[in-house]
Amino acid sequence: MKAPFNEVISGFVSLLTGMGITLGQLFRPIVTVQYPHQTLTMPKRFRGHILLKKEPTTGKSTCVACDLCVKACPSDCILVEGEKKPGEKRKSVTLFELDYTKCSLCGACVEVCPVDALEYSRAYNLASTSKQEYKVMDLVKRLEDSKHP
Ligand code: SF4
Ligand code: SF4
Repeated sequence: MKAPFNEVISGFVSLLTGMGITLGQLFRPIVTVQYPHQTLTMPKRFRGHILLKKEPTTGKSTCVACDLCVKACPSDCILVEGEKKPGEKRKSVTLFELDYTKCSLCGACVEVCPVDALEYSRAYNLASTSKQEYKVMDLVKRLEDSKHP
């Protein structure tokens, strides 16, 4: 007679424990968002695809088209062209293409840049039905179109 009674008690305790855990979760901060209506802001350390940084005073890139990032890239996925405009001491970038389908996000290009012209984007939800869309990413155009300072 004692065993069934013990089973009822232990079942009740187990039920209370489960409900306690569920209730505890109700008061914890919400960590999910209603994607795609809401999106997350990625932390500073997040490593998305590379971007040309915008120099705040000129609104342009500081890239001098030295090709060091091209040589450092183990995946051979960067193409850079530049020109030296009349009156300027250094070249400025005219074309910066990234083949994101090959990029391993190793960061070698960002680290090697002598003028700190590259950074990681915070984009975490890139998706497409066409691989071609990320085969040639025009980073000069992205810089011109970007709103952030
Ligand atoms: S992060 Fe690495 S693989 Fe990607 S472009 Fe830069 S050097 Fe190449
Ligand atoms: S991003 Fe930096 S390393 Fe790459 S070409 Fe421009 S200046 Fe050189």
